[in-house]
Amino acid sequence: MADLKQGVEFSHSLLEEHICKGTKVVDATVGNGYDTEFLAQLVTKTGFVWGFDVQPEALQEAEKRLDEVDLIGQVKLIADGHQNLGQYIDKGIDGILFNLGYLPGSDKEIITTAETTLKAVQNGIELLKDGGIIILVMYLGHQGGQLEQKRLLEYARSLDAKEYNVLHYRFVNQDKDPPQVLAIKNRRNKNG
Ligand code: SAH
Repeated sequence: MADLKQGVEFSHSLLEEHICKGTKVVDATVGNGYDTEFLAQLVTKTGFVWGFDVQPEALQEAEKRLDEVDLIGQVKLIADGHQNLGQYIDKGIDGILFNLGYLPGSDKEIITTAETTLKAVQNGIELLKDGGIIILVMYLGHQGGQLEQKRLLEYARSLDAKEYNVLHYRFVNQDKDPPQVLAIKNRRNKNG
């Protein structure tokens, strides 16, 4: 039997379970585009992925890679902050993925922040279909990471359990701070 999944791996297994062919999803933090590629494969050519990042250079690299693997046709990359996603996307979204923090191998000063991430989640949740899901991979090791996590958890806890299922996935016995996952699912059955 395998070990328990680390955060990023767990986020991918949630996506595989909840994102089907033909759906509309958002990669809120494109970076090198690995997650964008994963999402584009899940939704296939009949679906669509919007990708956001504030680093145009990262988006250019991501675009090149997505083009090479013939997935760019079902992806739109947007050089803007994810907090502004409502300006680009209509309601009816099936999933939104955030891989927070900074891009490894890039400028470590360019990180997601408590304020903008929270705003993005608050705006994003309004665009979700019934059954849609927001998945956040949270990193606590860098400056501001703990505050970001705290704010997100406060917000997630405040959501009505009849409307949303909220899951917090983390290891509780490790010295370092491994990535954690927060998932917010807009329930299909609001009476259960
Ligand atoms: N999923 C990526 C890694 C993301 S790292 C991969 O697979 O490679 C986090 C990314 O968030 C960085 O690229 C950073 O530029 C971006 N970012 C930081 N603040 C942002 C914001 N407000 N809106 C969108 N992207 C942001």
